Amino acid sequence: MSHVARQCSRTGCSEAATASLTYDYAHAMAWLDPLHAERDPHAYDLCERHAARLSPPQGWQLRDRRFVEPASALIAV
Ligand SMILES: [Zn+2]
Repeated sequence: MSHVARQCSRTGCSEAATASLTYDYAHAMAWLDPLHAERDPHAYDLCERHAARLSPPQGWQLRDRRFVEPASALIAV
């Protein structure tokens, strides 16, 4: 499957997506990851700007995993 550039999923935004946002409602968690290679129906694609401006709902935890090396992500708390 070839890598096709995707657009930010925010309404009215036509920037290229650079991050994927996933939620776990049951645990009030959100994760920002490098853009997934394949489109995930549970993930939102966000551009750099919208990813930076993202703020989770009250009481939620947001983990930004975009700048963590895969090897250290495994041992990160
Ligand atoms: Zn955007």
